[in-house]
Amino acid sequence: RAVTGARVSAAERREFEGSLVVVTGAGSGIGRATALAFAERGAQVVAADIDLETAEQTAALAGRLGPAARAFRVDVSDAAAMERFAGTVARELGVPDVVVNNAGVGVAGAFLDHSTDDWRRVLDVNLWGVVHGCRLFAAQMVARGQGGHIVNIASAAAYTPSGALPAYATSKAAVLMLSECLRGELAGRGIGVSAICPGIVDTGITRASRFVGMGDDGQERLRERAARAYRLRGYGPDKVALRILAAVRHDRAVVPVTPEAHLGRMLSRVSPGAMRL
Ligand code: ADP
Repeated sequence: RAVTGARVSAAERREFEGSLVVVTGAGSGIGRATALAFAERGAQVVAADIDLETAEQTAALAGRLGPAARAFRVDVSDAAAMERFAGTVARELGVPDVVVNNAGVGVAGAFLDHSTDDWRRVLDVNLWGVVHGCRLFAAQMVARGQGGHIVNIASAAAYTPSGALPAYATSKAAVLMLSECLRGELAGRGIGVSAICPGIVDTGITRASRFVGMGDDGQERLRERAARAYRLRGYGPDKVALRILAAVRHDRAVVPVTPEAHLGRMLSRVSPGAMRL
């Protein structure tokens, strides 16, 4: 089960009542768990994914937990498609209160084995997708003048150098910096921007099919490394979703989703002052 309804109290069920929440990459993993967590707390959810079928499944699940949800097919890397998507949302549902730019892809392998296409694919989705989502929806929020919150899913890979995921880690480092720049720009307008930095989470993206080039062996090694580094196993998307909700609730800038002492050390090395927990 992606979200346990039993843990949510009657008061919590109303926390995001009346809010419109857009989640990209909502068809699986962190995106789906986030969509359901918001729905369960009263939000109307827009589940967007390049895979319409999974987005529709998420919307159906969300509708059972909270208000009726909508599903859209959109490729976040496609500027024109994102513009149409953002326009449709504003016209039909209104300006979102929360946008979670979560859609992502990964390519596993050494830098010298990454092709130009590998780099393009990862940067197109992970970086440009976030740029489009931020620009289009921030503009709507600014025009409306009632604040809002943008959550970008970065990664612990953004500040943890690794030879295994150079394009992915680079794309996530860019998302982290973009989020911090935008946070400063929008601060005066009541629009919060958060970057979430999950460690290794057991979702679709850690399956061989998502990290192109990573076989079962590679996946197992990744899990073992995660367990050693973070002393975590079976770390699921639900936990990340709860950290996303908390980031919105408390307007956090950068949210590592792994034991904080460990990541705090790494964060302070890479980006002093970045961690405001
Ligand atoms: P995680 O939850 O760890 O981010 P997943 O692979 O489970 O990993 O989820 C990523 C989601 O993003 C998938 O549902 C996938 O279909 C979606 N996605 C991937 N590329 C795009 C894209 N270009 N546009 C929209 N959604 C995308």
